[in-house]
Amino acid sequence: MSAFYSLRIDDIPHDGFRLSTQWNAVELEAILADTDGLFSIASPIDIEVQFHLPRPQVLMKGSCAVTLELACVRCLKEFVWPLEIRFRYIFWPKSKESHVEEKELDVEDLEVVYYKEGEPVDLRPLIAEQIYLNAPQYPYCQDSCKGLCVQCGTNLNEQTCSCAQSFRPETLSPFSVLKKLKK
Ligand SMILES: [Zn+2]
Ligand SMILES: [Zn+2]
Repeated sequence: MSAFYSLRIDDIPHDGFRLSTQWNAVELEAILADTDGLFSIASPIDIEVQFHLPRPQVLMKGSCAVTLELACVRCLKEFVWPLEIRFRYIFWPKSKESHVEEKELDVEDLEVVYYKEGEPVDLRPLIAEQIYLNAPQYPYCQDSCKGLCVQCGTNLNEQTCSCAQSFRPETLSPFSVLKKLKK
């Protein structure tokens, strides 16, 4: 199965079109370059999309499954996070009437993507956007993660240390711990 990244909306047949494909993480890495180290993609990306007419607007419904690698915000340990995302987009031709308000299209909570007629639409930025929006913002390796010891930096999930408990305020961020460790 060869990967499939873009399509021409004009080529979609009258009875719609369904597609399953798999992308390599590399394909999205450039687009996701500004994740600020929040996560990386640790698996191929499975994608299924369905296109529904009538034109000029085309509805794309789909899902994508991917595994992310994240760093725990408490203990900094890296762990994997399987993600399954459902999404819907409306493609609308970028022509004279392109500045249609979303409400005129009667498509609340749908994202509108404008396309140039006759030109292929690249699906990669849309999938990248979905992964970005659905990646956890404050990921914990486990709900009960105990974080790092403020004093000595021990990962308290793995070991105990002999530092006084009173020096472990719950609210301490691991970044201040890191700063201490770097000194
Ligand atoms: Zn953790
Ligand atoms: Zn300690």
